[in-house]
Amino acid sequence: MSVSFTLRTRLCWDGAFRMGMKSLSIISTILVLACIAVGCGDKKSSAGEITDMDRDFMAMAINTASQSAMNGGGPFGAVIVKDGKVVALTSNSVTRDNDPTAHAEVTAIREACRVLGTYDLSGCILYSSCEPCPMCLGAIYWAHLDCVFHGGTRKDAAKAGFDDAFIYDEISVPTENRTVPFIPMMRNESMAPFRIWSSNDSKKEY
Ligand SMILES: [Zn+2]
Repeated sequence: MSVSFTLRTRLCWDGAFRMGMKSLSIISTILVLACIAVGCGDKKSSAGEITDMDRDFMAMAINTASQSAMNGGGPFGAVIVKDGKVVALTSNSVTRDNDPTAHAEVTAIREACRVLGTYDLSGCILYSSCEPCPMCLGAIYWAHLDCVFHGGTRKDAAKAGFDDAFIYDEISVPTENRTVPFIPMMRNESMAPFRIWSSNDSKKEY
């Protein structure tokens, strides 16, 4: 009886826990979607809806990705738009340029910065034919882009052989346990550049 009671209690707790987690998951998903919708809407258009212009820009990114794939390049394209005008239209050029960082989003950021003469893409919107990978995600945040629209998802990319899930997973792995080991060394000496930066009154903060 005691075992039965304990089991029932445990099952009850397990059920409550699962229900609680499920509710939390649903609530957090709704919050994230609401934040994304509000964030893009505020910065992109008053309506906050995907417009025909957005579809045109995304079509450009997708067509560029298709062209790249037809010519043996990576099947990804990106467009960066500022004030309704295209400032960069690029495709993945990893194999063409022997550059593993030349993803469409990164090359678009480089091109937009070159065209606009700035390292800060605030006020710009990125249209990518596919959900950006973790490297491009970082570049997007460093570039201060306002909003990102993407066509395919990371799951679509994985089906085509571009699985970046392991990189997302690596971020939360302790550095010493990562597939590529990160080994800290000479920390005291490496503080010198930071001291120079802090005391340099003519530095450009970014
Ligand atoms: Zn990428």
